[in-house]
Amino acid sequence: MSAIYSSITELTGRTPLLELRCYEKELGLKARILAKLEYFNPNQSIKDRIAVSMIEDAEKSGKLRKGMTILEATSGNTGIGLAAVGAAKGYKVHIYVQDTVSIERFQVMKALGAEVSSMSDIPEVAKALRENNNDYVAGYAAFYEKFSKSNENVFIVDQDANPSNPRIHYETTGPEIWNDTDGKTDILVAAVGTGGTVTGTGGYLKSKNPDIKVIAVAPGENSIPSEQNPSPEEIAGVHPFENIPKEFVPSNLDKNSYDECFRVETAEAYQAARRAAKTDGILIGASSGAILYAATKAAQRKENFGKTIVAILPDTGLRYLSTNLFKGE
Ligand code: PMP
Repeated sequence: MSAIYSSITELTGRTPLLELRCYEKELGLKARILAKLEYFNPNQSIKDRIAVSMIEDAEKSGKLRKGMTILEATSGNTGIGLAAVGAAKGYKVHIYVQDTVSIERFQVMKALGAEVSSMSDIPEVAKALRENNNDYVAGYAAFYEKFSKSNENVFIVDQDANPSNPRIHYETTGPEIWNDTDGKTDILVAAVGTGGTVTGTGGYLKSKNPDIKVIAVAPGENSIPSEQNPSPEEIAGVHPFENIPKEFVPSNLDKNSYDECFRVETAEAYQAARRAAKTDGILIGASSGAILYAATKAAQRKENFGKTIVAILPDTGLRYLSTNLFKGE
């Protein structure tokens, strides 16, 4: 039987689970850490999954039609996924990014044919960002407000609220983990940006076994902008979701889908990513490092000895070579 695909959209998902044997050995861990390597997606991140589901659902519902422009504000990976799927399907794609986005993401989106602008080029968005310590969700609200009221021929993707985001994780990421571990997952660790991964994957796994524990990763105190520290080195794609005003929590985050919020500082995330590159030869991004750090801390808890921990690692380290991620020991 031949195995020829006809569109990049058919290549998302079915990513492998790799037990980080050498990492476990080096740290003397007594629990298993299984890394779900989302950089095996066609454009090297977990966001390829939602790019396909959000675009194809919008086509089905008639919200997206030929000749329209796909519009989104994103910290990068979603923009790359949308640029690729938009290219393959013949749509124009216009992505607004935060000024902190790594140069690699910017270049990749452009190479895939998207128009790329800065969120702060829009005066209303710049004002919202300024007034809310550069909080992405606050900036996004202003972005959405502006374009949803304009007469431009655009489809605003709105990944923070679009139900096709958690849905695809419920339908693919969750079942892949359940099947690949023969239902023997004890703990899931994933990060929260839009909340889609945790809500969909955590929700699915809990529907199969309510005893599965879900740890949702958030940035640490010193890794989010504050009045004292307005521009810390942030973990791209990961946002706080507890102890913040309700309107800044993405509506795609279902609070029932996780049991614990675990906060990780940027330096801790970098340390874990650097270690895994050297022990097991996986080159992962900053949020993956944060997730691996949280998974490691979970593995070191006595009550978790002998358990199986699945860590969803969202993207590739190649997207961070211009940052400080791999600069240092
Ligand atoms: N890590 C990276 C690198 C991301 O781009 C994102 C998405 N913002 C996340 C983690 C978080 O995933 P989600 O949006 O599904 O919560």
